[in-house]
Amino acid sequence: MSYYPARAVVDLGAIRANVARLREYAGEAQVMAVVKADAYGHGLLPVARSALAGGATWLGVAQLEEAFALRDAGVDARLLAWIYAPGAPLATAVEKDVDLSVPAPWALREVIVAARASGRTARVHLKVDTGLARGGSFLEPWTQLLHDALAAEADGSVRVVGVWSHLARADEVDHPSVRAQFEVFDEALRRADAAGADLEVRHLANSAATLSAPAVHYDLVRPGLAVYGLSPMPDLRSPAELGLRPAMRLEASLSVVKAAPAGQGVSYGHTYTTTRDTVLGVIPLGYADGIPRHASGTGPLRIGGRTLTIAGRVCMDQFVVDLGPEGAAVEVGETAVLFGSGDDGEPTAQDWAEAAGTISYEIVTRLGARIPREYVGGER
Ligand SMILES: *Cc1c(COP(=O)(O)O)cnc(C)c1O
Repeated sequence: MSYYPARAVVDLGAIRANVARLREYAGEAQVMAVVKADAYGHGLLPVARSALAGGATWLGVAQLEEAFALRDAGVDARLLAWIYAPGAPLATAVEKDVDLSVPAPWALREVIVAARASGRTARVHLKVDTGLARGGSFLEPWTQLLHDALAAEADGSVRVVGVWSHLARADEVDHPSVRAQFEVFDEALRRADAAGADLEVRHLANSAATLSAPAVHYDLVRPGLAVYGLSPMPDLRSPAELGLRPAMRLEASLSVVKAAPAGQGVSYGHTYTTTRDTVLGVIPLGYADGIPRHASGTGPLRIGGRTLTIAGRVCMDQFVVDLGPEGAAVEVGETAVLFGSGDDGEPTAQDWAEAAGTISYEIVTRLGARIPREYVGGER
């Protein structure tokens, strides 16, 4: 029996519905639900299963350990992992039927060794850097990588199933860099074709491109953020306008409610001072839980039908809110909602992102592991 005075409630029905909606956007393309980073903080296994129930046919993760956790829990969908460094347990990945990204010659060499060690064929997706300048090989070195991979395919150690890349500015809808990356990607595909590659999937689109750039859907789209019901382009489209529903609600039970006099400095550094006789509440969540310290004095929350703002600094395990004189009616133990779908007037993860000067991705993904995740709307 574990106890925590706060919880992240994740609506798996929303995950299923969001993935079903993304399938509509994807048209003929398959959907890979990206569930890296503990499903953006929502919980790897429940989200993965719900995404598959919603119609995703692939799962995508960054880390090998995330892929292993899915396999060990019995998830048998197609699964791509894309971040590893020299010395990674690639033979285990091959044995567990995990598709691997190959971004560079050293990775191809290690995958070939792993495949031979495990006596199986490794399925690889060759990653071309079309302009993000992060993972993958730029076009010319990639072409050599392609030929080396196809040579390894001829001897049975690898099977080149995919060619893929990632966009830098898809959230700036119609930005010319999307077209520029698309053109480099098409050139990579032409070279793969000319070299005799027999590809199963070509994939480029993240959430933003899945929602706004059908020309780059190819055979498979890789939405992450949209699976969780958040908008990758919040200035242009809200989740509701996109047909998506935020899946996570973060709430806590007030651990302190007490009267305080006018002129009282609040929390470390006394950056907030009460202006009248008032009532203070304490929320037992802090930066150890992933509440950004940058949200000090700005983070919104909903208590008893009122939207309030953090008073003073966010501490490690708690922060304070000025409930005002009306706070006399608030009881200790009452629920404070930090963010949710917004349907009941509560703030959203996007509101927190704006309050803290970041993006909604970071708000949900950084939530501390010690906050229990509770699931509603599971298994239909
Ligand atoms: C995280 C990630 C995605 C998903 O991006 P979103 O913007 O969350 O949709 C897709 N592809 C790659 C390579 C990623 O790293």
